Formats: sequence, structure tokens, C-alpha cells
Amino acid sequence: MMCGMQMSRILLAASAAAIGSLTLVVPAAAHPDRAAGPGGDWNDTVYLTFDDGPNGDDTDRVLEVLADNDARATFFAVGQSLEDDPARGLRIMAEGHVLANHTWSHPDLTELSRAEVDWEIASAAWMLDDLGSGAPCFRPPYGSSNAEVDDAIADAGLNKLMWNVDTEDWRRPGVDAIADVLLGAAPGDVVLMHDGGGDRSQTVEALEIALPRLAERGYRFGIAPECVVG
Ligand SMILES: [Zn+2]
Repeated sequence: MMCGMQMSRILLAASAAAIGSLTLVVPAAAHPDRAAGPGGDWNDTVYLTFDDGPNGDDTDRVLEVLADNDARATFFAVGQSLEDDPARGLRIMAEGHVLANHTWSHPDLTELSRAEVDWEIASAAWMLDDLGSGAPCFRPPYGSSNAEVDDAIADAGLNKLMWNVDTEDWRRPGVDAIADVLLGAAPGDVVLMHDGGGDRSQTVEALEIALPRLAERGYRFGIAPECVVG
């Protein structure tokens, strides 16, 4: 048993090094602090994220497969979609997930003035506050940001959370293609998926395949430290 624990520590160190080098190659990758481990629980946790909802039945189906697998996730919702469907935003939070800011209308923020960027972030933040979400994280649409956008995010008191595993599910590449990317996820990874932006049935089916198999490896599905409330 002790030997196994020691081996885990060695593997953890190797994983931390891998995450660190990935961060150097891809600036948008997981936060470097992740390698240090928030609360020491990063070693078995994969961070699932769903963008661009809420989106009717697709969001409900994602929530159902997450519940079936005892998984928690972060939903980067679009403010105006939450205004249209606040009940689904409330359901997301009631089921233990985090509802977070993905702007009001999903523009490329690098093409806006600073005042417009501030408005996009603040309007979505107002909607989230109204629904009772205190999530401290933000994801820019298309992952598109620059120094000015990053300043606006920080000035709003939010942490930017990008991803380092992209399922490209928005392309609808097929259930197996999405599931294969999911099955390649490792502890500490932040995985990008979508519950909005179109028909997400491939995403749901891929989750149904992959989550039980990842759980068999001992992985859990939790909330990224950048998004943990309080
Ligand atoms: Zn988006």
C-alpha cells in the first residue's frame, strides 16, 4: 500500500511536469498554479466545461449524463441566453454545477472597445448575480483575448479559465471522435465542450461513453479552482 502511494507521488510529479510543459507550448492551457495542486485533490480530477448554453433539451441531457456519473462541471453561459431561460441556469446550479460568465452576447472581445468589453462582462455578471451565482471565473468567447481584454477580466474581479483539451465538439465530428478526446483526458486537464451553439447530441452520447470509463480509472469530475465560489 505504502509502495503504491509512493508510486502515485512519482506519477503525480511526472504529470505536473507534463502540465507545466504543456502550459509553455500553449499559453491558453491550464493555469500554471494547477501543477501545485489546489487542496491536493487535483491528482484525480478532470475539469469538464460546457460553453454557450443554456440550450434547452441539450443542456438537460448534459445535466442528466453528469448526474448519472456523479460529475460536477462548469457551464460558461451566455448572458442573453440566461435571460431567455433563467430556469435552466437555476437548474444547473441546483444540481451542483457552477454557472459562469461567457459574456452577454458572445462577441470576439478583441474586436470591441474597452467600454464595450466592460459592458459585455458586466451585463452577464449582473444576470449571474441575479440568479445567485457567485462564480469568480470567466471564459472569453472563442478563447479570444489580448492584454486589454485580460485587464478588463481582472478589473471585473474574475479569473480567466481557458482549456487545454479541446473536443472540438462544435464541429460535430462524430460521437467516437469526441469520446476519443475525452478518453485522453488526464487529471488536471480542463476539457472544452459545448451544451449550446447547435445540436449537441454527439456531445451527450460521447459523454455517456467516456465518463464511466474515466471513472473506472479513478478519475473524478470537479470544479476548476479558478471557478470555486468563495
Ligand atoms: Zn463560446
